[in-house]
Amino acid sequence: MGETAKELGANTFQFFTRNPRGTAAKTIDKNDTDAFLEFQKTNKFGKILAHAPYTLNPCSDKKETRDFAYMVFKDDLERMEYTPGQLYNFHPGSHVGQGTEKGIELISQLLNRVLTKKITTTVLLETMAGKGSEVGSKFEELKKIIDNTVLNEKLGVCLDTCHVFDAGYDIVNDLDGVLNEFDNVLGLNRLKAIHINDSMNPFNSHKDRHQKIGQGSIGLEAFEKLINHPKLKNIPFLLETPNELEGYKQEIALLKGLYRLT
Ligand code: FE
Ligand code: FE
Ligand code: ZN
Repeated sequence: MGETAKELGANTFQFFTRNPRGTAAKTIDKNDTDAFLEFQKTNKFGKILAHAPYTLNPCSDKKETRDFAYMVFKDDLERMEYTPGQLYNFHPGSHVGQGTEKGIELISQLLNRVLTKKITTTVLLETMAGKGSEVGSKFEELKKIIDNTVLNEKLGVCLDTCHVFDAGYDIVNDLDGVLNEFDNVLGLNRLKAIHINDSMNPFNSHKDRHQKIGQGSIGLEAFEKLINHPKLKNIPFLLETPNELEGYKQEIALLKGLYRLT
């Protein structure tokens, strides 16, 4: 995966820990993970981001689904230790009618079960679009989850540009305002990764459909400001746009062409 990312012009990448729909993960070959760590160092790659399966729902109303989330999460965190010090991102989940407060409680419960002092991974809560009963479309909700988690020094946030825009944070007209709000509610030091996606839907639509960079309602100008924002320097940006490899290569080149920070 590292080699492919490098060929595309990237210096980080995101990957799924297993089939995005869940199920079994491949056994880890320590030769592979060691080779990656060497590759990361030699090529000056930033931290990489592992994404939990979409089916993981820590705040489901069904015990089997919550147990499944626990098993996958715990297993993923153990596997992540083969490559110490990276990032693991998950969707906080959908409360499916139990209410946001209950959802927040169940998510923190899961984190309190899976986080240990020993882990070196930073676990990221992703900002959500607020589709259906999704928890985490407001910074305050993520803050509550963090506050309810004992080992919250292990937690960070991954900001998804499509999701926050769909959730009603106007990164197009008021990026500074959104970053200030993030800072006031969560603290910018919690921001560990950015999913850089345009949106197929208008502002505040609570939809979550990613679009190619510059071809959606966020638009290229907003992305130019975003990647050049001094407060976001050194944070890994990861594309989740609807592309094949060639498309990613072009988007990376496009964004690099707009990048002015050194
Ligand atoms: Fe995600
Ligand atoms: Fe995302
Ligand atoms: Zn999304």
